[in-house]
Amino acid sequence: MRGVKEAFARFWPLTRGDRGRLALVVACVIVAALAETASILLFAQLTDEALKAGSLAAFWGPAGAWLGVAVVGALVGYLGNSLAVWTAERFVLRLRASVFRHVQDLPPDFFQRHRQGDLVERLTGDVEAIEQMVVSGVVGTVSAVFSAVLYAGAAFWLRWDLALATFVLAPLFLVAARRFAGRIKEAAQDERVADGAITSVVEESLGNIVLTQAYNRRSAEERRLHREARAWMRASVRGARASEMYEQFVEVVETLCVLAVIGLGAWEISQDRMSLGQLLAFAAFIGYLYPPIRSLGQLGLTLTAATAGAERLGEILDERPAVADPAEPSRPVAGRPVRGRVSFHDVSFRYPGAAGESLREVTFAADPDELILVTGPSGAGKSTLSKLLTRFYDPTAGAVCLDGIPLTDLPVEFLRENVALLPQHTLVLRGTIRENIACGRPGASDREIEDAAREAAAHDFITALPDGYDTAVAPGTAALSGGQLQRVALARALLRRAPVLVLDEPTAGLDGPAARQVTQPLRRLRAGRTTLLITHDLSLAPHADRVLVVDGGRLVETGTHAELLSRGGTYARLAAPLPAAVATGRSADDTLSLRV
Ligand code: ATP
Repeated sequence: MRGVKEAFARFWPLTRGDRGRLALVVACVIVAALAETASILLFAQLTDEALKAGSLAAFWGPAGAWLGVAVVGALVGYLGNSLAVWTAERFVLRLRASVFRHVQDLPPDFFQRHRQGDLVERLTGDVEAIEQMVVSGVVGTVSAVFSAVLYAGAAFWLRWDLALATFVLAPLFLVAARRFAGRIKEAAQDERVADGAITSVVEESLGNIVLTQAYNRRSAEERRLHREARAWMRASVRGARASEMYEQFVEVVETLCVLAVIGLGAWEISQDRMSLGQLLAFAAFIGYLYPPIRSLGQLGLTLTAATAGAERLGEILDERPAVADPAEPSRPVAGRPVRGRVSFHDVSFRYPGAAGESLREVTFAADPDELILVTGPSGAGKSTLSKLLTRFYDPTAGAVCLDGIPLTDLPVEFLRENVALLPQHTLVLRGTIRENIACGRPGASDREIEDAAREAAAHDFITALPDGYDTAVAPGTAALSGGQLQRVALARALLRRAPVLVLDEPTAGLDGPAARQVTQPLRRLRAGRTTLLITHDLSLAPHADRVLVVDGGRLVETGTHAELLSRGGTYARLAAPLPAAVATGRSADDTLSLRV
């Protein structure tokens, strides 16, 4: 029950704004139960006064009243149920939106730790399970408790001694619910985990379909899916068995109660202490008592199953974003335009949970109009620099500054408006090319979008497509080549008009000419912005204002391409295969780009 309490404390606040409606639903439920009670009493009256006495005259009054009560009950029932569904769905909407908002702020390592399918399951199945507890659960409990008390009260009012005798069996329901709760919760939790695993396997397999087909991994993937599907099947059957056992047990207890009522009633009628109408009404009240008691027992089971979902969702909600807005944001927010000076001061960084530091005491500064090329061996820490500069993480020691202000003093949204990132993997949204560029700056005009595409050397190939800017693309699209997609991504970053532009391996996977089409515009575009180009591709190095060489998390060399070459250190080794034309900086355009 502690789990239920905790889940309530956590999720009940989300019903704010709908509590008035919830109260109305409960009121409808109460009126519907009162109408039901009235109709049973009218039925008893009809039996004794019209049926037993054989009098049609005694029929009309109670019949008219019964019809009236039925119509009121139907209207109130309709209103209450529709409102209950509406309120429940609104809760689901809100809860899902709030979890989604939270997840979107989590750092990259969170997404590395969690499989996508599992997250999907938490945002769908688990969210609905919590609704079952918080909204439907509350309405269900209030309505079941009220109905049970009302019908029990009516039964007592008719014949307290008979009622007492029948209620002796009631604790059996509670014993049954207790007995099965644990098993059902465990099965529900396993089922959700397995559900997430199945989604993950399908997603991963289809996402890697080329690998699957090229390496004949079909049967291995099928085995993987089969393993997860079997786990799901076992949990599902276990859960269904426990619920079914509970149901059947309750059925037998109910039959016992009904037989007790009929037996006692027959005895009472034979002794002339009860009329047939009274017995029928009494039996009806006892009969009406079962569903609410049953649903209270069932509710206990739903609650325990829902706490499994609440715990899983709680795990996500307890994850804290790696960065947060400052309590008191710094000056640039007040309207001073950002110049774009980037500086790292003795920056060290260790990824959460990692054994060693990925960056150690890195210090450098980059000014507006500068094109800085960052290079180094694989795993040296280059991308980590870009993650700190866009504040996916904060440094473990030292500070990263924009115009001299530590990034931790700037609102995250403001920072990302001013530091545009072109990430290592080309990110494509489902939509048109125009929409893909436009998301760089919502509200940009078509003219601005086309200008950005021109700057990124993308306009010509886009207009040559049959649908031009309206060409549909999607993640994994084959409509555009890697180089073309990369230029669309560059246009998106340029459209942002941010004073700092960070490009992480923009030419990865491209051949020389394609790579040059992506990087060439950067030479022209350095004016007015600070450009950091992280790359293994040194063909642009002769044109960079400075080259930073990172190795083993340290900044080991800084200087121009020519200076670093003559120094004969790490950079000279990395650049060794470059043909003479590039090495002397004569023209990067006429040579193939070689990668370190
Ligand atoms: P490449 O040129 O291959 O892209 P890089 O120089 O960009 O490499 P980074 O991606 O910055 O290298 O990684 C630097 C180091 O940090 C590597 O040793 C890497 O294993 C480690 N690292 C990167 N991401 C994480 C993470 N999320 N958790 C733990 N360690 C990480």
